[in-house]
Amino acid sequence: MYKDIATPTRTKGILEKYGFSFKKSLGQNFLIEPNILHRIVDFAELSERTGVIEIGPGIGALTEQLARRSKKVVAFEIDQRLLPILADTLSPYPNVSIIHEDVLKADVQQVIKEQLTDVDDIMVVANLPYYVTTPIIMKLLTDRLPIRGMVVMLQKEVAERMAAKPGTKDYGSLTIAVQYYTHAETVMHVPRTVFMPKPNVDSAVIRLLKREQPAVSVTNEDFFFTVVRASFGQRRKTILNNLMNQLPNGKEKKVQIEKALENARIDPKRRGETLTMVEFATLSEQLYHIFYREA
Ligand code: SAM
Repeated sequence: MYKDIATPTRTKGILEKYGFSFKKSLGQNFLIEPNILHRIVDFAELSERTGVIEIGPGIGALTEQLARRSKKVVAFEIDQRLLPILADTLSPYPNVSIIHEDVLKADVQQVIKEQLTDVDDIMVVANLPYYVTTPIIMKLLTDRLPIRGMVVMLQKEVAERMAAKPGTKDYGSLTIAVQYYTHAETVMHVPRTVFMPKPNVDSAVIRLLKREQPAVSVTNEDFFFTVVRASFGQRRKTILNNLMNQLPNGKEKKVQIEKALENARIDPKRRGETLTMVEFATLSEQLYHIFYREA
């Protein structure tokens, strides 16, 4: 077995050998603690038949741990300067393939079709670039990829919002967006000291296990999410006020919105953050009739 890339001495050696300088704009904070990596990989519950998608392999610290514990790893890396380094550090692992592409622009579905065919399941495992954690996670969820789930490191605050429960300060439209597709759980808090360079924020690992079906069934998903975002529009306002102010022509439709709330058995004086996902779905169905069917 080779010495882990993630040890501080080996990481420093690799960076010096290639004269690599971190780009803050690409969210480059590399992990330098093998034990944290082992735990992240444990949470992903990989088998030798699992295919893994990684975003941002950096110099390969997490990639090598994934390669040792899965069938195949496909990793998207945006920074061209890292490609020769990865070719070197990951040379002992023939089951790794690096794709030089911005994951936000990538056709991940196609990559899966081409590169992760003979596997039993697929997991996304990554230490995400913090400037784009939410867009990356939402892209991977809304692309409806055939994945079992994701185990990813991100800012602690964002993890808490994704895994929040109704009625808490962290509960919001991001919570609903993520939990609509997945069961979400923060599995580990990670100190700043295990990164090089140290980030300015605290980190956490979140596990998102994809639901077989979305958490609720709605006629029109886009409208459902519009209602959710409108309901959280201004935190201190009641749900009635938020819907009137945030939905298109909401003010003119006050009476109808009141009726929809009544039909959904939701007190118009409640605040958005107290509604469960099921209540949002019921409300959205009622409002959908008013906004589209009666138009
Ligand atoms: N996996 C490594 C580790 O844990 O040490 C590096 C993680 S570092 C937080 C994030 C990595 O994502 C960097 O290598 C960065 O270049 C890469 N990256 C940033 N934006 C990206 C994007 N849009 N698509 C693909 N990779 C990206």
